[in-house]
Amino acid sequence: MCCPELVRSALAVTPAPAGTGEIAPAVRFADPEGASFRRVADLTHVITPGFPIFPFYKPFAMRQLAAVEREGFGANELCYAEHVGTHIDAPAHFVAGGTTVEHLPASSLLAPLVVVSLAERAARDEDTLLVVDDLLAWERRHGRIPAGAVVALHSGWEERVGDPARFLNADASGTMHSPGWSGEAVEWMLNEREFNGIAIDTLSLDAGNSATYPAHRHLLGAGKYGLENVANLGRVPPAGATLVVGAPRHEGGTGGPARVLALF
Ligand SMILES: [Zn+2]
Repeated sequence: MCCPELVRSALAVTPAPAGTGEIAPAVRFADPEGASFRRVADLTHVITPGFPIFPFYKPFAMRQLAAVEREGFGANELCYAEHVGTHIDAPAHFVAGGTTVEHLPASSLLAPLVVVSLAERAARDEDTLLVVDDLLAWERRHGRIPAGAVVALHSGWEERVGDPARFLNADASGTMHSPGWSGEAVEWMLNEREFNGIAIDTLSLDAGNSATYPAHRHLLGAGKYGLENVANLGRVPPAGATLVVGAPRHEGGTGGPARVLALF
């Protein structure tokens, strides 16, 4: 049930007083008078038992616990690996003792969204990597990557999402082929720009054929987060949108399915 008192205060036009820290941006976004966006894009895939998944994990499963017709209320029980569907990778995914998902700062989950599209190149080369030159080319068109950004690689891969075999794209030897971030580009971001995380529309931040995961290792090793299987990156502006990451908050988590939105 929804408390009317809370709804009213969330929509209050009064700006948050100075010094309220992380609450301020959220109040601004909920303010209908001063809204700084006109559209909300859902960058989240629907999770189903057939959603493409890294072969290590078991598919998503859901079991009905109660039905409105029977118990008077509906409820399901979910069983899924953290790294399924559109999801976040916390540093603890690759770093022993790294930050777990419940400790990611709320302020890092609201970020300027940068979309670098390599869809044309990925259509010709399934193993293509996002390199430093791609980031510099984006900056020549749109200006410097804003502080606190999440930088997303749009490869066009989601067009394959209804066909898990094409999404994973494994060859006869079992090696997968999908575009990814180069380790060098992540290192450059860490050394040269201030940012919160990176994202991709494939199963993995690293290219499918990577056995060493340099993008994951550099990114998560530096305490940043990643987003994988992000949807609709081809339908949001390359610059100027704000990303909202509805990350889960279970204790000790290495990541988990997230509702990801773009406001623009
Ligand atoms: Zn993951």
